[in-house]
Formats: sequence, structure tokens, C-alpha cells
Amino acid sequence: PVDRSPKMQAARLKLPVLAEEQIIMEAVRENHCVIICGETGSGKTTQVPQFLYEAGYASGTGIIGITEPRRVAAVSMSHRVAKEMNLSTRVVSYQIRYEGNVTDETKIKFMTDGVLLKEIQKDFLLQRYSAIIIDEAHERSVYTDILIGLLSRIVPLRNKKGLPMKLLVMSATLRVEDFTDNQKLFKTPPPIVKVDARQFPVTIHFNKRTPLDDYTGEAFHKTCKIHRMLPSGGILVFLTGQAEVHSLCRRLRKAFPFRKGDTIAADGEEDDNSEAVKRFKRAKQKKSVSLPRIDLDNYSAQPVDEGDEDREAGIAEDEGSDLDIGDDPDDTDVKGDPSIPMYVLPLYSLLAPEQQAKVFRPPPPGTRLCVVATNVAETSLTIPGIKYVVDCGRVKKRFYDRVTGVSSFKVTWTSQAAANQRAGRAGRTEPGHCYRLYSSAVFGDFSPFSEAEITRRPVDDLVLQMKDLNIEKVVNFPFPTPPSTEALVAAEQLLVSLGALKEPPRLGSVKEMERARLSCPITPLGRAMASFPVAPRYAKMLALGRQQECLPYVIAVVAAMTVRELFEDLNRPAGSEDESSKLSHRRARMVQMRRLWAGQGPSLLLGDIMVMLGAVGACEFAGCTPKFCEENGLRYKAMVEVRRLRSQLTNAVNSVCPDMGVFVNPKMSPPTAHQVVCLRQITLAGLGDHLARRIQAEELLDPKWKDAYKTPLMDDPVFIHPSSPLFKTLPEFVVYQEIMETTKMYMKGVSAVEAE
Ligand code: ADP
Ligand code: MG
Repeated sequence: PVDRSPKMQAARLKLPVLAEEQIIMEAVRENHCVIICGETGSGKTTQVPQFLYEAGYASGTGIIGITEPRRVAAVSMSHRVAKEMNLSTRVVSYQIRYEGNVTDETKIKFMTDGVLLKEIQKDFLLQRYSAIIIDEAHERSVYTDILIGLLSRIVPLRNKKGLPMKLLVMSATLRVEDFTDNQKLFKTPPPIVKVDARQFPVTIHFNKRTPLDDYTGEAFHKTCKIHRMLPSGGILVFLTGQAEVHSLCRRLRKAFPFRKGDTIAADGEEDDNSEAVKRFKRAKQKKSVSLPRIDLDNYSAQPVDEGDEDREAGIAEDEGSDLDIGDDPDDTDVKGDPSIPMYVLPLYSLLAPEQQAKVFRPPPPGTRLCVVATNVAETSLTIPGIKYVVDCGRVKKRFYDRVTGVSSFKVTWTSQAAANQRAGRAGRTEPGHCYRLYSSAVFGDFSPFSEAEITRRPVDDLVLQMKDLNIEKVVNFPFPTPPSTEALVAAEQLLVSLGALKEPPRLGSVKEMERARLSCPITPLGRAMASFPVAPRYAKMLALGRQQECLPYVIAVVAAMTVRELFEDLNRPAGSEDESSKLSHRRARMVQMRRLWAGQGPSLLLGDIMVMLGAVGACEFAGCTPKFCEENGLRYKAMVEVRRLRSQLTNAVNSVCPDMGVFVNPKMSPPTAHQVVCLRQITLAGLGDHLARRIQAEELLDPKWKDAYKTPLMDDPVFIHPSSPLFKTLPEFVVYQEIMETTKMYMKGVSAVEAE
């Protein structure tokens, strides 16, 4: 029996999913697998785990597991459900890659989908669970797809063994044919329970013209107009990334300032005694300034692809001018109007949970709530009280070139389905309005649905994980949407070249050879690699690290290479003159530090890798404090992740080869010249297919090839970034971690290869 507060109970009863509780639970009793479709906000994520709990699915030894594609959802939903059920977080808990609050008493466990995949590797039958809920299946994230494929096999196995288990797949859209009409996946299609959400009508307003690039400016004007002219009700603005979100928040706060008391302009982002606020107060005593831009610095390492929309594409210098709309001349048209204050909040996946929780609370009296969000507000989180939606119609996605593997972040049009999801956010509590910043003709050209992620990215990590699960013929795996054969072949080839898979014998007909290329068996090295929680190339580096006592360095390097954005973006637009001068100060310091970390003599050849190693070493030596990071241009959150990953990788290495006895030494001295050579070889072994050669003088026909590098797969030149220690020396051969296309094709994570 659950002891909910009367207030909670009343709030629950309003959720559409409550009306379907009996139907859902009957379907669950009678079927092994059930699909639940219901609009965002209908109560699926918060209520369905409670239904299972109350029906006794966690009363025995088994527990209820719920997977989310996003970390924010796993954390915030576990807290919400614990609160609704009046249970401690020891009972309703979460687990994300590096942290969690799971205990022996845990009965309901929220986790990211990657966490459950790892658990399947340890126990294929998932015997701890009596029920698994795969949430947000419409997002079609890679891990969600794989989990559904695996669970379609695990559930019947469990039942055959007399250890019954239930699978629930939940989606915010009705587009579930990929799961239901897929004989390979489920022989008998699972029943679908539809939750009829009380959706109020939303009037769609299309723009007459479609702004080609300044959609943030357009969003600003539209939001101002709504705020000045339309009746009360929250506004939700959809933009594409963190920088845009902050930029618009800043502009709106300036236009409709809201002051709590008269001590501090509340921006809803900081505790009153936080450093930023103190700084602000100090600044305010001197002169009256507009709100400083508070950088939340919430970047962190993510499971593959998570939070991509928050990662800005910029590799510094010549980037980002289009994001800096803070001083747009248009702003002078909009005179501040403090008589109609607006309570402006940012929302994006990498925002800290405490900050993010603010959108669920009512705005201060006399203000209008305005949430500026990325597509995280599309389906993962439901914000109460929204009556107006402003939709820029775009989304930021990471694109991979099929052939070259070059990745780039691009802002593209979203899909019709996603745009309709966005519009739907306006009609949760009363009839609403959605303002689309594009014409109906443009909408007509959107693709009807977003593609499954698995069709859009390399799959080497998945293929290795699957081989380790003894799924030899990955082509035959019951994918809800299979990746292209091309992508599978590329993945097996890379894994063969890394030694994780065995090369098939070159025998038989072309067709047989083709088939053999897609079913290479895993090697012992491959198994060791699969146990490391990093992509195969980095796993290979770890596996090679035992030479010359290099392992602690390799672990530090791999941790640094796999955590995103170690360095702060000091080229970001500044919020004030004061900040601008601080930023240029810090930039100078960063250049100096990078030079120091790059070392001298032979270590220089390790290039960006040496800079990362130096940064990690120095940061750890200083105790990994926020102060050290701030002073040296490092992202504190990223460095904390590196630290966690270092100890996680150290444990993983020790469990694979117990004789190594590696440990994390916080006072690690820089590598010796000999170890540097060794580290370069190891780097080459992991990144060997990412080789680039400096263009030779005699080939220099076109000026665009000046100082450029040529890679085997690309016709266009690629470059070493000016911030790299190798920018000055331009060695003949280099290997790189990845190529990012920004203003130019830049290689990231470059190290020199000896041309012997
Ligand atoms: P779905 O999964 O179907 O999209 P949810 O279960 O996430 O729906 O949300 C149901 C309701 O619970 C929504 O109205 C939402 O606003 C509310 N809710 C969710 N999390 C919180 C929270 N942390 N605080 C307050 N309300 C919340
Ligand atoms: Mg949900």
C-alpha cells in the first residue's frame, strides 16, 4: 500500500493515464510485452512504475526498472516518483553512468538505457528485474533500439525458465509500427494501449516569411509581442542549443526585468550567496549594469550522443559570431519595461537538476513564466502552465559522413512529428497557441518523422558490445530499424583492424565472403576491450597500455579523450564589458597553460594528447577544485568526470588483468621521454585509421591547401587547429581523434607520427 499525500493523490487523479490503469495492468498481466502510447504529460513516466509497484511487481525479489535516453529524465523522474509515493530515494532510486543512489532496498530503479545494456552484459537474463519499462521509445535512441531487440529475446527466455518478466515500451507518439509490425522482433505483435490525453486545441500560427538565419532574433520579437499583447499564460520557446538559449534568456531579462525585492534582480539561476551573485552585487554597487551572463558551465561527459544539442559546434576563434545577438541593434528598439516582469528560465539537458527543477514550480506572483528550451522540452519533461509555444522549427544534430566519419553539428529543420509535439505543449491545461517561425510551405517540406538514430551514426561500439553478448551475426539481430549494411561492414572492418574481431578467411564466392565479413568472431582481445566502458579505439589503447609502465598515463589520456570539452569556451560572447575583459585575460592565461602542459622536447610530438594529459595531471595535483579549473580555463564538470572515469577505468583494467595492480596516483609525474614514445605508439594503434599527411610543396597547386593535411578518404583539406601545440611544427604525419567541420575541417586530438 502506498501512502500518498492527499494533495499528491488529487494531482495524480487528473492525469489521463490514471483512467487507463486497469486496462494497462490487465494487458500487462495477460501479455509479456505491452506498448503504451500517450501524449507527453499524460503521466506515463511518473505513473506506470507506480501501477506496477502497486500491483506487486516489486514485492518479491525482483524490482522494476525504467530506462530513459536522457540522464536528466532518469534523475528528475526518480525524485518525482519517490516524492509522489512518499518513499525514500533508497527505495525509488536512479543510476546513471557514474552515479546513483541505488540501495539494497531499491524497488523502482530509473536508469539511462546505457546502464541497462551494461547490466545485460553481466546477467543476460536480468534476473534482478521483474519488469522493465523502456521509456521514450519514440526518440529511437540507439540504446533504446538495441534494448528492445535484446529484450524481445530475454523476455521469452525468462518465461521459459519459469522466471516471468514483463516488458513495457512507452512512446509519446503513435508511430510504433517499427516495434509492432516487425516479425523479427515480436512474432505476435504486442498489444498497444492508447492513453487519451485531454489535449486542448492549439491554434497554429505560421509566419508569412521564414527567417533564414536570425531565428533567435525572430523568437525574441515574437516572445516580446506575446508578452505585451496576449493574456496571461506561460511561454515556451524552442531553440536549438545552450548558447542560443542563454542568449535569448539574457535579452528577454533585459527587456522585461524582474526584481525580487530590490536587492537583486532574480534571474532564477543562482542561490543568493553563490559566487556569481556576490560578484553581481559587488558590480551593482559600483554602477548599474544589465544582468551579467552567468555561465552555468554544465558541460559534462555524456553517454554517446546524449546532450548533443547542448554541445556547441564551435572550435573557437572564428566561431560563434552569429550566436552573439546580445548587442544586436534591434535591442535598442526594445525599451526595458519593468512594469510587466517576465520570469525567464533556461532549460536544456545538461542543465543541473536543481536549476532544471525550477520550471516545475509556479513563477513568482505578478510575473509571466517564459521557458527557453532545447528539444528536451519536446517530450522528456512536461512544463506546467504553458499556453504559448514559440517554435523556431529547427534542431541541432550531430551528422556523420558515412564515408569519412567526419562529424559536424548542424542546425536543420526538425520533422513534422517533432513540430507537432512542440505545438502540443501549449494545450496541456487550456486551449493554446503555437507560433511557428516559418511558413506553412516550409512545414510541408519537413520530413514526416525523425529518423532512428541508429541509421545516422557509426556503430562500431554497438557491434563490439553485441559480439561480446555472443551475437555473432549482427546483421540478423532484431533491430527495430536496422543500421545500413554499409555501416555494419565499416564497423566490423574497424574492429578487425583493432584486433577485436578475427578476420574471416578469404574463401568462397563473393556472396559468401560478403556474409563472412559481417559475422567475424570476437577475439580474446575483443572481449577485454568490450569490458572497458569506452569506444573500441580507446579500449584498444587501454588494452595496449601495459608496456613500459604506461598504463596510468594511458588511462588518464583515454579518460581525457572520451570526456567532452575539457576546455572552457573562452571565445563565447561576453555579457558585459567587464566580462569581456575578464575573458580576454583568461584566454591569454589559457594559451600560456596549454604551452606549459604541452611540455618540451619529445613530449611536444604527442601534441593535443600531451596537453590533455598535462591538464589532467595538473588539475588532479591541485586537488581538482573549481578554483583551479576556473583559473586555468578547464571545465570543472568535465574534470570531475575525467576523475571518475579514471578510477572507473583503473578498476576495469585491474579486473581484466589483476596482476597489473594499477592505481590512480594524484601526484603522477610527467611521462619520461621513453614513455612519450610509447604513448605515441599506443595512440597510433587506437587511431591508426585516422591518419593524415601534410600536403607536400609540389602538390601545392591551390592556395586552399596551404598548411593543410590530406586524409585517405577525403578530397578536401583538413587542418590543425591554431590552439594545438603542433600548429607551429606541422609534422609530416599525424593521427587525429576526429574531424569536426566548423569554419574549416579541423582535426581534434592530434598527435604526431614518426615518419621512419
Ligand atoms: P509523460 O511521461 O506521459 O510525458 P509525466 O509522467 O512525465 O508524463 O508527467 C506527468 C505530470 O507530472 C506532468 O503534468 C508534469 O508536469 C508533472 N511532473 C513531472 N515531474 C514533475 C516534477 N518534478 N515536479 C512537478 N510536477 C512534475
Ligand atoms: Mg515521459
